[in-house]
Amino acid sequence: MGIMNAVPGILDPIPGGKHLVNMLDYVTNWARANSLWPLTYGTSCCAIEMMSSSMARYDIARFGSEVFRASPRQADLFIIAGTITEKMAPALQMLWEQIPGPKYAIAMGACTISGGPFMYDNYSVIRGANTLIPVDVFIPGCPPRPEALFHGLLTLRDKILSETFRDPWKEGIVIDKPYPDRWSEATKAWEELEKIKDEEMAEARLKFKEEQPGYKSPYKALRVAKEVFPEIPHQPKPLIGLPANTIFSIIKKNFPSVSPFDNDPSEPALMARPSDMPLDVLVSKEEYVDLIQFLKEDPRTHLDYLIDVTAVDWIGHFDVITQLMSIEKGHKLFIRLSLPKDDSIPEENRATSLLAAMPSIYHLYPAAEWKEREVFDMFGIHFENHPDERRLFVDEDFKGYPLRKDFTHPHILKRPV
Ligand code: SF4
Repeated sequence: MGIMNAVPGILDPIPGGKHLVNMLDYVTNWARANSLWPLTYGTSCCAIEMMSSSMARYDIARFGSEVFRASPRQADLFIIAGTITEKMAPALQMLWEQIPGPKYAIAMGACTISGGPFMYDNYSVIRGANTLIPVDVFIPGCPPRPEALFHGLLTLRDKILSETFRDPWKEGIVIDKPYPDRWSEATKAWEELEKIKDEEMAEARLKFKEEQPGYKSPYKALRVAKEVFPEIPHQPKPLIGLPANTIFSIIKKNFPSVSPFDNDPSEPALMARPSDMPLDVLVSKEEYVDLIQFLKEDPRTHLDYLIDVTAVDWIGHFDVITQLMSIEKGHKLFIRLSLPKDDSIPEENRATSLLAAMPSIYHLYPAAEWKEREVFDMFGIHFENHPDERRLFVDEDFKGYPLRKDFTHPHILKRPV
């Protein structure tokens, strides 16, 4: 545009030349204002709103801004969206310098305008993009919505439409004034403080020695002799609580039908379990509550803490796993209940129906209220005598149970089998 900037000087003095310059201004400004190409640049949360402005719902292309450019060489608009740190400042200035003129800058959001929430007591955030490069439009907000960004874009458009070759766009240089280097300032201050502390400590030591010349520390510095240490054999982790076979024999005595889930109830197999792997036992629905109550009340097991109630959908049946722990002794136990699915429900209603039921243990562990509610909500398993069996994570009228294998949703795409 260098030659064009000389045109007003030539045309303005001749009759009718002013109108020609006005016409040139109008055409050039119209072209510039309606095809601002932003650079892809975002540093934090505000950038998310900037990105959504280019999606179908807001469609920044309506304003001629099209797709965000990946290279500064192809852009003429710098939307600075997000917090700018001192470390990032030189890169931002370099990007601005790489954008060919005429170019414009929008500061989007409180952080870019002033440092935003990071303005106070922060050693690393730049308090305003305009301390680095010339900014044309400021958009307040934390973050500003895409509508606000469009308002800023239209404001910039109005500004561009009022430009003239008589007062041409000037090369937007980076701000000369160096931004305050708060990191170095803080480091210097800390060093000063440390120096003062060291000096004070040295003074105190000297004073102590003068006041108590005969003082001898009761502690002697130890010199450890260099030696080659013998290889230490692997030490198994200390057992926490009762061993698995003891817990199992206690259970077996009172509930003979209970079996370990891995189907090997032999003593060697139970003894071979790593000490940090809890025993996992399979129990019938009829004995489920009685077993848990027994294990909670028996002083040998004292499983007084409910860790979790969770479930697995095995297509044909559910496994509900109740995880218990003894705070006093430290051992854990998993109690597994295999629940067959209700076959009487017609195929077309199965995905949205409760397919199994089991007793609640809320009366033994109040924490079961939410844990069982979650299993109800995600798997569609009914808990008898639960005090408040309502959906937990999804809406009351939500159809289906999201963690079940038969769950389908119109927004989930399925690969054809
Ligand atoms: S202004 Fe708010 S939304 Fe934007 S970058 Fe700063 S903290 Fe994030």
